[in-house]
Amino acid sequence: MEVTPNHTQTVAGWAAMNESGKVEPFVFKRRENGVDDVTIKVQYCGMCHTDLHFIQNDWGITMYPLVPGHEITGVVTKVGSNVSGFRVGDRVGVGCIAASCLYCDHCRRSEENYCDKVTLTYNGVFWDGSVTYGGYSRTLVAHKRFVVRVPDTLPLDAAAPLLCAGITVYSPMKHHGMLRSPGGSLGVVGLGGLGHVAVKFAKAFGLRVTVISTSPAKEKEAKERLGADHFVVSTDQKQMQAMERSLDYVIDTVSAKHSLGPILELLKVNGKLVLVAAPDQPVELPSFPLIFGKRTVSGSMTGGMKETQEMLDLCGKHNITCDIELVSTDGINEALARLARNDVRYRFVIDIAGDSNSKL
Ligand code: NAP
Ligand code: ZN
Repeated sequence: MEVTPNHTQTVAGWAAMNESGKVEPFVFKRRENGVDDVTIKVQYCGMCHTDLHFIQNDWGITMYPLVPGHEITGVVTKVGSNVSGFRVGDRVGVGCIAASCLYCDHCRRSEENYCDKVTLTYNGVFWDGSVTYGGYSRTLVAHKRFVVRVPDTLPLDAAAPLLCAGITVYSPMKHHGMLRSPGGSLGVVGLGGLGHVAVKFAKAFGLRVTVISTSPAKEKEAKERLGADHFVVSTDQKQMQAMERSLDYVIDTVSAKHSLGPILELLKVNGKLVLVAAPDQPVELPSFPLIFGKRTVSGSMTGGMKETQEMLDLCGKHNITCDIELVSTDGINEALARLARNDVRYRFVIDIAGDSNSKL
């Protein structure tokens, strides 16, 4: 069931109708603003590689029509009678989560992302049985629990990708103690949306950062703009060998199938690799680099709501924003094509409200 009788608000958005890799204008219904809900005028929405995986049905789970988008910033236009934390006019954000059960152990600890009833912002099934539609749309209705405040110091466009890319790297960095390890060394594999924010967080917390990339053209920017200490081209065996056993941690953000073997060799004994990427094919995990270095491979899936607010507040304090390319709603398909061929510095953000006269 895609809608219920309570779905009374007509909203204009952009949807993928099939696996072609493109979106088209799409008018649909959202639920009425409930007592616990916040209605948001969407200003900006980041384009995560997950959007592309879903649009192309890479994982075989896409329900068309699909309205993607889970890096959403905007302004509150309506609040329900049970909502005390938000007011009309507030600058807010919504990330990957639309709902969770609210009472399991994970929800109680604000690890809503690990609730086994978690409902994603799009391509999920909401409490009322309707399919969720994301931020490639002009209006969003969100439950108050899954809305965060965007600090006044952060611009809504360059902050939008923090709602997914930001929290997805922040959460494991915090969990594994990286943010409390100044002087420690982190390797960031893949310098895209997630990767470039990981570099910024790591530098803000005093880590030494090595970018491990397939794109030699990104070296200058990675060092001069993002502050990376080293840059290694992963296809250059000599460069990779020179880095063996040098890193405490690695975050892997590579969206395509690859082997973890050469990356694990870069870790010191007892080093930790966090896989946040979700390629459609299983990654290769050879056992020798794992056992000879007593290394750990772990995963992480976005972050909880408390942690998301904490991350945004920290970004406000340290002035951390994303490096974005703003695109107009007419430019979404061109941006998707460029994202597919790894041609973006470092996140496309859609100017949904059209306030910035942007052009691709
Ligand atoms: P992105 O902006 O496209 O960045 C991915 C990077 O991977 C590229 O910039 C590129 O970096 C590298 N890469 C791409 N194709 C490659 C290939 N064939 N071989 C080697 N490297 C390649 O994507 P993103 O938005 O950061 O997302 C990255 C992945 O994380 C996606 O799979 C996405 O679905 C997943 N994700 C997971 C979560 C979670 O909760 N765990 C949240 C968000 C996204 P270089 O040019 O530097 O090599
Ligand atoms: Zn995402």
